[in-house]
Amino acid sequence: MSAKERGGGLSITIDLAALTRNWQQLAELSAPAETGAVVKADAYGIGIEPAVAALSAAGCRTFFVALPDEGRRVREVAPEAVIYVLNGFFADWTDVFRAVDLRPVLNTFASVEAWSAHCPGGPSALQVDTGMNRLGLSVHEALELVRHPALLSAASPRLLMSHLACADDPINPMNLSQLTLFRELRAEFPELKASLANSAGIHLGADFHFDLVRPGIALYGAEFAQDEPPLATVVTARARILQVRDGNAGEPIGYGATKHLERDTRIAVLSAGYADGYLRLAGSSDQRHGAYVAVRGRQAPLLGRISMDLIAVDVTGIVGVIEGDWAELFGANVPIDDVARAAGTIGYELLTGLSRRAERRYLSPPTNA
Ligand SMILES: *Cc1c(COP(=O)(O)O)cnc(C)c1O
Repeated sequence: MSAKERGGGLSITIDLAALTRNWQQLAELSAPAETGAVVKADAYGIGIEPAVAALSAAGCRTFFVALPDEGRRVREVAPEAVIYVLNGFFADWTDVFRAVDLRPVLNTFASVEAWSAHCPGGPSALQVDTGMNRLGLSVHEALELVRHPALLSAASPRLLMSHLACADDPINPMNLSQLTLFRELRAEFPELKASLANSAGIHLGADFHFDLVRPGIALYGAEFAQDEPPLATVVTARARILQVRDGNAGEPIGYGATKHLERDTRIAVLSAGYADGYLRLAGSSDQRHGAYVAVRGRQAPLLGRISMDLIAVDVTGIVGVIEGDWAELFGANVPIDDVARAAGTIGYELLTGLSRRAERRYLSPPTNA
């Protein structure tokens, strides 16, 4: 059933062929390293099962999730895949790790001990913090492990990981300092495969690829405006035009009357709002520009504050705008990162906050059976 038939106001189209193309493009860029896929947070909002099914069919063998329950959902569609759980392991997760055949990313000394006690010999990854001060063993703890061969052998790591803090800023000196430290660490664990790069890290060059790369956001078509060739658009969000109306120059628009019309204005009111995950801070006021949408292929700037279920946009001069038509909130004509930037955030937050109320439609990849 389409959004129209169900009575929905927001329609999200997810192009799984575009997802597959993006993965293939990253795999070509990263070869001979293996290219995995990060599918945490419901595959960045697009739906974990369809995303994993499409990526598996394209040849992806290694998936990363944040939590064991996400790993369980990956396993249902990818029976043969290697699945790493980034947020680690606790003893009370033993059953799900065993039943689903998940590999923990061990980030603390205590979790290394817990994994070797509860799942001795079960494959795992070790994540070492190389300067971000987020999650991972300290360098000191990692070296301590080398001095405990029995513990290390029971923990059975197959992969040595670290995560880059500033990969989206190629000239940031942290990239090189993290790379240098990671190389030194790797020499201490010569039998392990190594993985450092997220999406942005892949673009830092072959030095950062090691044995396995871990792209997330780039698969979903966001964040890499500088990419050559550009990534394919995976997610398109459209909202229905509920009303087209005229306002006079000087009149206020929206809650708080924080925005006044600068000219006589043709206004379209759309059926989407912050309850759909369209960020409220993307609205406009007399002091600041907001985001824009696309109506009939042309840019229409947001007018005033975003409501829970409604957005007003300026469609002055756009011919043929009619009530019942659809406006693009983001997609091929409106890069998701433009919307995110207008709200002071990143495409990741917009994607992972996508509405549960929206109608979702999947465009399937071609089957090569
Ligand atoms: C989320 C995550 C990734 C993917 O990052 P992107 O910037 O989305 O490519 C890779 N590695 C780790 C450890 C992560 O937490």
